[in-house]
Parts: sequence; structure tokens; C-alpha cells
Amino acid sequence: MAFKATLLTLYPDMFPGPLGHSLSGRALEKDLWNLETRQIRDFATDKHRSVDDTPAGGGAGMVLRADILAKAIDAAASSEDPRPRILMSPRGLPFTQERAHELAAGPGAIIICGRFEGVDQRVIDGRDLEEVSIGDYILSGGEIGAITMLDAIIRLIPGVMGNMESADTESFETGLLEHPHYTRPAEFEGRAIPEVLTSGNHKKIHDWRMAEAERLTRERRPDLWDAYMADEDDVD
Ligand code: SAH
Repeated sequence: MAFKATLLTLYPDMFPGPLGHSLSGRALEKDLWNLETRQIRDFATDKHRSVDDTPAGGGAGMVLRADILAKAIDAAASSEDPRPRILMSPRGLPFTQERAHELAAGPGAIIICGRFEGVDQRVIDGRDLEEVSIGDYILSGGEIGAITMLDAIIRLIPGVMGNMESADTESFETGLLEHPHYTRPAEFEGRAIPEVLTSGNHKKIHDWRMAEAERLTRERRPDLWDAYMADEDDVD
């Protein structure tokens, strides 16, 4: 069975959106992954079809109701459905390349896109939702976060990317940021391609790329650099 993404959202028209184009779009056409959207509002019970209410305890904004969201989740997936139930949430564990690999190797995901101030805590607890964040900033809704996360996952599904080799040296795969890239023309506005890259000496090219990857990581991401160095020490 191909990877299946089920999205619970108040804005189903936002999907596939960017995922319908390029690599993920071609993969969707080839059934290498499947997409299903579910309108949370279809589970509203009043004549205004409202899904949110004021926060208990007072304060700004509105909260997505637990009863309505729970019904939407139950209709989307039986209790035997093996797919993880992910709630897009700035309070969640940060999404990583490692998690993208795990999800790409699995049966898919049920992804709940929050809106307003967020969702009632009781549906998070009652439906065992895994909160996942795409970064330390606040989006207006979970949809763009879900699209971002799915884009990272889909390219890792077997058969989606033509040249799997290009994934191996990518930033975050090796623990280092990737080295800089160059292509024709040989000179651009007075800037030449580094000589070593046109030398044809594969060992030197590899060493140069490695040194650049290490330099960039050290300069830009001390957090990654420390983890990388700690890993190297373990190997010794
Ligand atoms: N009041 C909340 C933010 C709500 S933003 C708080 O302070 O934590 C509205 C919705 O957008 C959230 O329910 C979530 O689904 C989505 N969202 C916002 N920022 C996100 C992020 N960084 N990662 C994942 N989802 C996010």
C-alpha cells in the first residue's frame, strides 16, 4: 500500500496546493502516495456549522471543539488504523529530517490542521495525538505546516526521487550542511568557479566539499556542529 496522507482541515481546498506540482505532484499522479482531505466542519452539529467556541477561563480567540474534532478523527480512521495521528502544533516536538525518513517508510499519516488559538486539550489526550511543530514561529493554521512536512516526507518515499544519491549529501542527512554548488558559465560577473571543481581530481573535489560543509556548519549552526563533533568522537 502506498503512503496515504489524510488531512483534517477547515480548508480542504488548500490541498494538494504546492504538493500537486513538480516532484510530489508527479508522484501523486503515479499513485506513489495518496491524499485524502476531510472537512472538519462537516461534523458540526448546529445550524451555523460552527466548530469553535470561547476558551474556558476567558481570554482572546477561539478554540476548536473537542467533540467535533473527535468525530472527524473517528470518521477518518478506525482504531486499527496504523498511521500516526499528528496534530500540527507549535508546542510539538520539532519536525526533523529523521522524522521525515521514519514517516516516509511507514503507511502514511493522519494530519490534523489546527486553527484559531488551537484545539481543546481533551481531544489531544483522548485521541492520543502526537503534536508536531515545523519551527519556532506561529502560523495562522496547520495547513501550510502540513504541506511543508508532507513535502519533506514525499521526496523520501521510494521511487519518488530519481537519483537517490542526491539525497545522501543533502543538508541534515550527514549531520552537516551541504557544500556550495556551481554550474556553467565558468565565470559570472568576474567570479570564477573554484579551480578544484574543474580539476577532475575526485579525491581533491571530495575533500574540498567536505571542508566547505564543515566550515559552513561551524559558522552557521554551532548546534549541529557540536552534535557532529560528539558523533565523530564516538566513532574513534
Ligand atoms: N495559540 C497557539 C498557536 C495557534 S496557531 C500557541 O500559542 O501555541 C493556530 C494553528 O496553526 C495551530 O493550532 C497549529 O495547528 C498551527 N500552527 C501554528 N504554528 C505552527 C507551527 N510552528 N508548527 C505547526 N503548526 C503550527
